[in-house]
Amino acid sequence: MNEALRGMSTPDAFGRAMRDLRISVTDRCNFRCTYCMPRELFGADHAFLPRASLLSFEEIARLARLFAALGVSKLRITGGEPLVRKGIEQLVGLLAPIPGISDLSLTTNGSLLTADQARRLKDAGLGRITVSLDALDDATFQAMNGVGFPVRRVLEAIDHAAAAGLGPVKVNMVVKRGANDHGIEAMAGHFRGSGHILRYIEYMDVGTTNGWRLQDVVAIDEVLARIDARWPLEPIVPNYPGEVARRWRYRDGAGEIGAIASVTRPFCGGCTRARLSAEGMLYTCLFAAAGTKLRDLLRSGASDDTLRDRIAGVWGGRRDRYSELRSQATPAIQGRRKIEMSYIGG
Ligand code: SAM
Ligand code: SF4
Ligand code: SF4
Repeated sequence: MNEALRGMSTPDAFGRAMRDLRISVTDRCNFRCTYCMPRELFGADHAFLPRASLLSFEEIARLARLFAALGVSKLRITGGEPLVRKGIEQLVGLLAPIPGISDLSLTTNGSLLTADQARRLKDAGLGRITVSLDALDDATFQAMNGVGFPVRRVLEAIDHAAAAGLGPVKVNMVVKRGANDHGIEAMAGHFRGSGHILRYIEYMDVGTTNGWRLQDVVAIDEVLARIDARWPLEPIVPNYPGEVARRWRYRDGAGEIGAIASVTRPFCGGCTRARLSAEGMLYTCLFAAAGTKLRDLLRSGASDDTLRDRIAGVWGGRRDRYSELRSQATPAIQGRRKIEMSYIGG
C-alpha cells in the first residue's frame, strides 16, 4: 500500500516510528522455563487470565488492521505459548491478508508443532516461525524448560517448520550462565550449515519473578568470541534500520547466526515495537510497568477512528528506553514492577 495513503502514526517522543506489533494470544504455557515462568511461582494455583477476558481472534484482527493503518508492517504472534490457544491458524488466516502487513511470524517452544500443525499454519498464511531451544542435551534442556520436555521433539518441530516452508527457521537460545552456557559451541556446531538461523539471546530482567542477576548474563561479545575462535565469523549489515538482532556469517559459508543483546548492547534508539497482551493491553516496551486497556474500548462499541486515535496517542507519547537506563540506580528503574514476559508477549 502507498505509505502516503495510510494514516501513519506520528513518531514517538524520540522520533521512533511504530512498525512492529507483537501479539500475545495467551498467558498460558506448557513449559516452565526457569528464566520466564519458574515452576515454583507458576504452580497449579497460579491465576491465569480467565477465558472471557482474552481477546477473540476477530478482536485481535480488528486491532491489527488499525495498527497496520498506523504504519505497522510486521506482526508476530507470541505468548505464553501461542500453540496452546486452540485454532491459532484461524487467527493467522485473519491476519495474513491485512493490507500493509508484509511479515507475519510466530514464536513457539515447538512442543505442539507437529507436521500437520506446521502445514496448517503455512496454509493459513504464516510467513516464518521462530522456535526456542536452549540446549542440545536433555539434562540441560529439561532443567531449563522445567517440565522435562525432550530436545528431540523440539528438533523435530524445527524440521516440520522447515518442511512446511516456514523457514529459514530461527532458533532462539537464551544463554544463562551456569545453566546452559557450556552449550554455546555445541548449538553453533549443530545449526551451522542446517539452513536454520541460531540466535543467541542475552538473559533479560523481564518481569519480577525470574530472580535475574547481572552475573548470570553471558555478554554477547563473549558468545561471539567463543564461536569465532572455533569457526571464524564476519558481521552482516542489518536488513533494515533498527533491526533488533545483529547478524554474523561464518566465513566458511556455513550460514549465519544472530544475537539479541538487550543487556550489553541496548537498542532502544531503533525500537519500533508495540505489544498487545492477550487481554488487550497495549504496551510500548517489554519492560513496561503499565499499559493502556484497549479491550474495554473495543467492547464498548468504539469506532475504528476512536480506537486508532487512542493507539496513535499512546505511541505519540512514548518515551520508553528501559534497556538504556537499566544500569541507573533510580527508584523508577530499580523498583519498577515490570510485567511478566509470559503475559506481555516475548
Ligand atoms: N513460548 C514461546 C517460546 O518460548 O518461544 C513464545 C513466548 S517466549 C516469552 C518468547 C521468547 O522469549 C522465547 O524465545 C524465550 O526464550 C524468550 N525469553 C523468555 N524469557 C526470557 C528472558 N528472561 N530473557 C531473554 N529471553 C527470554
Ligand atoms: Fe513458556 Fe516460552 Fe516462557 Fe518458556 S519462554 S515458559 S516456553 S512462554
Ligand atoms: Fe524497546 Fe523497551 Fe526493549 Fe528499549 S527496553 S528496546 S524501548 S522494548
